[in-house]
Amino acid sequence: MIETEHTILPKQVIREKNIIGFDMSASNFLIAKEVELSSPRWYRTEEGKLKKLHRALSRKKKGSSNRNKVRVKLARLYEKIGNRKLDWVHKLTFCMSQHFEGIILENLNIKGIQQFNSGVSKSVTLDFSWNQFIHILKYKMEDRGGHLVLVDRYFPSSKLCSKCGFKSKDVKLTDRVWTCPKCSAHHDRDINASINIKKEGLNCLKNNHIKIINDDDAAGTAVDAFGEDIRLMLYQQSSVNYESPPFRAG
Ligand SMILES: [Zn+2]
Repeated sequence: MIETEHTILPKQVIREKNIIGFDMSASNFLIAKEVELSSPRWYRTEEGKLKKLHRALSRKKKGSSNRNKVRVKLARLYEKIGNRKLDWVHKLTFCMSQHFEGIILENLNIKGIQQFNSGVSKSVTLDFSWNQFIHILKYKMEDRGGHLVLVDRYFPSSKLCSKCGFKSKDVKLTDRVWTCPKCSAHHDRDINASINIKKEGLNCLKNNHIKIINDDDAAGTAVDAFGEDIRLMLYQQSSVNYESPPFRAG
């Protein structure tokens, strides 16, 4: 029998050190306790060119051959940017699926994405393609028997203290750091959320009868190797602009 990629069964036993939970943030794409990834601003990088072409298009007479030329130019530029973005998503998701047996993320809804994008320019909205990212990551994980867990969108990841579990109603969207009123732990908003997301995802896996082995020795090696690969694969030869350092190892 020829085994195709689609016959690979999901792993029933995975190691906790090979599981990572990420929080999504507006300033950085994905944040975990150990690692932070930002996505390049593909559209923003080309925003000047795009604006110029859009302006030129609006000035040309409808139906004229000049207008058509500009229209084609504009379509090609959008295609070029879209291809660059897709290439990046493929590389990133490939790398993630190679290093982790379990990846835990929030299941963002449209409203969440709008909130995520609120107050930022349209180019950022274009730069962010959550559905595409999830779709590609899901099949790459499945191809290796890994698990992609999407935590319920109503899970209060930002409001829970990852240390004592207290739910604080006072944490606002603008609070980047906060202190737990119960145990006094200081939290970075996104890192705290990512720890809660990971915890919740581990519960989901356990509820689905996946056994999780917790062997503390050599903890972090999966993340370290992932970090190295990401640096080599995505950032060294990058021709696009990052707004913040593209990679931080915690
Ligand atoms: Zn606490």
